[in-house]
Amino acid sequence: MDERADDGPAMTNTDAAEQHALPGFEAVARLAAHTLGVPLVALLLGDGSAFWYAPPGLPETLPLDDALLSACRDIARHGAAEVIKDARADVRFLPAGADPAHAAVGFLACEAVYGLDGQKLGALFAIDRKPRLSLGNGELAALRDAAALAGTGAALRSYLHRIDPATRLPHRNAFFSDLRAQLPYDSGTAWLVVIETAPVARFDAFVRAMGYTYADALTRATAERVQRWIMPGMQLYQVAPSRLAVLLPNQREAPTPAQLDALVEVLREPVDCLGISLSLQPGVGLLEVEASELRGGDPLRRVMNAAWMAMGTARGWALYDRRDDERQRQEFFLVTELAAALSEGTELELHYQPRVELHSGRCVTLEALARWRHPTLGAVSPATFVPLAEQAGLMRTMTDWVFDRGIAQLAAWRREGLDVRLSLNVSSIDLDNQLQPRLAAAAQRHGVPLNRLELEFTESTAIHHNELTRDTLVALREAGVGIAIDDFGVGYSNLDALRRMPANSLKIDQSLVRGIDARWYDAALVSAMVALGHDFGFRVVMEGVETESVLATVRDMACDEVQGYHIARPMPATQVAGWLHGHAAGALG
Ligand code: C2E
Ligand code: MG
Ligand code: MG
Repeated sequence: MDERADDGPAMTNTDAAEQHALPGFEAVARLAAHTLGVPLVALLLGDGSAFWYAPPGLPETLPLDDALLSACRDIARHGAAEVIKDARADVRFLPAGADPAHAAVGFLACEAVYGLDGQKLGALFAIDRKPRLSLGNGELAALRDAAALAGTGAALRSYLHRIDPATRLPHRNAFFSDLRAQLPYDSGTAWLVVIETAPVARFDAFVRAMGYTYADALTRATAERVQRWIMPGMQLYQVAPSRLAVLLPNQREAPTPAQLDALVEVLREPVDCLGISLSLQPGVGLLEVEASELRGGDPLRRVMNAAWMAMGTARGWALYDRRDDERQRQEFFLVTELAAALSEGTELELHYQPRVELHSGRCVTLEALARWRHPTLGAVSPATFVPLAEQAGLMRTMTDWVFDRGIAQLAAWRREGLDVRLSLNVSSIDLDNQLQPRLAAAAQRHGVPLNRLELEFTESTAIHHNELTRDTLVALREAGVGIAIDDFGVGYSNLDALRRMPANSLKIDQSLVRGIDARWYDAALVSAMVALGHDFGFRVVMEGVETESVLATVRDMACDEVQGYHIARPMPATQVAGWLHGHAAGALG
């Protein structure tokens, strides 16, 4: 029994940079330290890592300082077994001329450590402060046994260093160390294929529904398919939970388009995993990695971009494209900037564009349009930032901001005696049973009646509705809120669904209206839409009235309202009152 065992924790250490502890090292080292009666046992491995153990409770510890470490590394590199009975007489431990009375190390015994395949991995050291006259056979045997056990631990560690225990696939560490090994001289290139098995949100949904055991089984099942596809010499890795990578052997040509098509095809077949059949939505990316990129670059990030771009496409695979990458980085930058702009509220603004009633010439409604002026990028179009807000989960925050800002402004105009309605654009993401309470809360906050507000949904949002969205729209209508179907005529409408829409207004898309005076077929189309809209009981609004001639054509079609640059461009709130006062009835001519 080790009488020092209860004197507090033993001191063990690994190189700070090392990711994995060495399984079983402390137990092995404690046995060796006890049997040999030494204050320090150290294990040095050929990969540069060092592990050491000092039994607790000794009056004087023996630190594995840099000098001792480098002397031991020297021994580990060269000899097999070695016993240095008096290290004070050895220049590796006591520099020539130094006083032996101050030597830190007096004795050292070393035994080589081998891996399971007999390959030398490093050496185990028993180190004492005082020299020794001899080392008994029993002690030597104990050191040999400890070295053998340390070898098993080291083999297990290097396995864990490469293999994910859950999926049993080599993981990202292994991927990078193999990639570096393939491009050792800062020159040359290697081809890399990355497979995203499913969109991350979808994979997370699998995990939430089925647990990690299922997700791991799914990754293994997918890996088996890739395994069947890969050619000799290629190596497969799992670089993230839903992401696999294949490294092609040095200087091999890129996989051919036919080979990549075959990979996508095999990945798209439904996977039968633990009795459940699932269709994945894979994306495969291809990248030629430059050796120089291994210093500081991130080839995995780049190829993931290609895989991500490929995910929703018919082909399912894509070669890395710098422009796509830059666009995605720019989008990411914009999303973070937009999130900041929304929380600070200083860079965002609403502009207002009048909608004018044709028969009276009066401005009946103002449409609020979001504007973002970024301090360095300048004006960013809503056509760019609205879809980004949708993708990044910022849409509700943005809509709430638009509601609040727009309705506050409407309340201010009403106090000045201006009586207009305000129309607000909303995204499909907003269309749920919270929409009505959100709008009602903003209206109440600013004391504006709901019947002075209208919401605009794009045609595709409004038409592809289910019962829940229909209920939401009906609730809004019943509360007095107007509903407009925006950008009508460019989607693929189901006319029966349109007829049943609980909407008041139909806004015909500007792309159809703009050339109406020059293109007879646009005129025919728009005039049919106006008739249909009226038959279904909607007010018909023409967007994109840019010229006098378009206005004249539109007037003949008996539509209800017009909106466009010819009437007024969207303008800041400060200009609206002036415009309204200047816009006399009949100003449309
Ligand atoms: P939209 O709702 O159809 O808005 C009309 C767009 O057409 C506006 O572009 C407006 O400036 C532009 N426009 C108006 N008259 C004319 C014209 O005569 N000719 C031409 N060529 N264009 C005209 P904007 O402001 O760039 O907005 C683009 C789209 O972004 C909007 O289309 C709307 O779908 C979306 N959007 C803008 N603000 C918001 C918002 O606050 N929330 C949401 N969800 N979407 C918004
Ligand atoms: Mg609109
Ligand atoms: Mg529109």
